[in-house]
Amino acid sequence: MSGEQDWNKKSVRILSRKEGNTKCADCGEPDPQWASYTLGVFVCVTCCGIHRNLPEISKVKSLTMAKWEEDQIQFLDSHGNNAAKAKYEAHVPVYYYRPTYADCHVLREQWIRAKYERQQFMKKEGSDGLPGGVKEGILFKRGRDNGQYLARKFVLTEMDGTLKYFIKPDPEKMKHSNGLQITYVKDNRARNVFVYHNDGQEIVSWFNAIRAAQFHYMKVAFPTANDKEILSRLPQNFLKEGYMEKTGPKPTDTFKKRWFTLDHRRLMYFKDPLDAFAKGEVFLGSIENGYQVTTELVPNSYSNVWNYGISISTPERTYLFTCESEHEWESWLSVFKKVISIPMTVREYAVEAQFKHRS
Ligand SMILES: [Zn+2]
Repeated sequence: MSGEQDWNKKSVRILSRKEGNTKCADCGEPDPQWASYTLGVFVCVTCCGIHRNLPEISKVKSLTMAKWEEDQIQFLDSHGNNAAKAKYEAHVPVYYYRPTYADCHVLREQWIRAKYERQQFMKKEGSDGLPGGVKEGILFKRGRDNGQYLARKFVLTEMDGTLKYFIKPDPEKMKHSNGLQITYVKDNRARNVFVYHNDGQEIVSWFNAIRAAQFHYMKVAFPTANDKEILSRLPQNFLKEGYMEKTGPKPTDTFKKRWFTLDHRRLMYFKDPLDAFAKGEVFLGSIENGYQVTTELVPNSYSNVWNYGISISTPERTYLFTCESEHEWESWLSVFKKVISIPMTVREYAVEAQFKHRS
């Protein structure tokens, strides 16, 4: 390697340690090893892969393996992640979901395309609600009974209180790269709706439209709350999902494998991860209110049972769950313990009362 190249590589490395450049410009992953010398940003390997699909807009190179020219280094120096953020993210709507490195591909790709290709956030657009107050379109919806996806028209209005909450695209579970799970609670029961669209931009647009509608709805419902408080009330990711086995209330009941989803204090279990309705729901209160989580030895008398047991005691009954591996067991234990260690809010007392009324 020539001395000049050596020097250039060193300069690139110094630039990559400047404030703002130490995290990926698009997803925030620490220590990005790639840079776009046409946009002047430092990005992680995954976002770099997405940039490669936009060759007209972004040209990327490895910080360590590529050959860097003097003018490219100067461009990186005079731009950088903070400057790019100020330019390309100047007017991101407050409700808009900014993906992180933990998020799925479709969310990340559409965020990058929205920023640099469509330059969607460079000028301010209208209010902070759902643009136009309404969104409608065709999505493929999974049939409740036969599991087939059929085209259905969906209409979302700004005043729609039905979509009480909502989670992000879940391609892994649905086995469709543009899959989206919509979950809402009606009559104190969770309902899952699974949809997809062949166009990733469309599915992400629905995702953000629902967030916009929720944001608007909450602003009306809580007129004194500031934007930050409202954002914190928008749906978050599920705390954890996965398989466990569960036994019924009687000692003779057998263990059955179920898909569990923990949303705040609502532990739901399904026969299949794509079921519309839960087979059952358990409310997880707090320690002060008589809820307990303990590790449990699972008696050998059961056959074909997973070995790692967890029991959850509520004021009404004790539930016994088993996990397949020690790793899963530790992970469920830690989320359950965390949930019950937090005191309940007034709203959660109301939800608990609904659960007690139901059983
Ligand atoms: Zn990234």
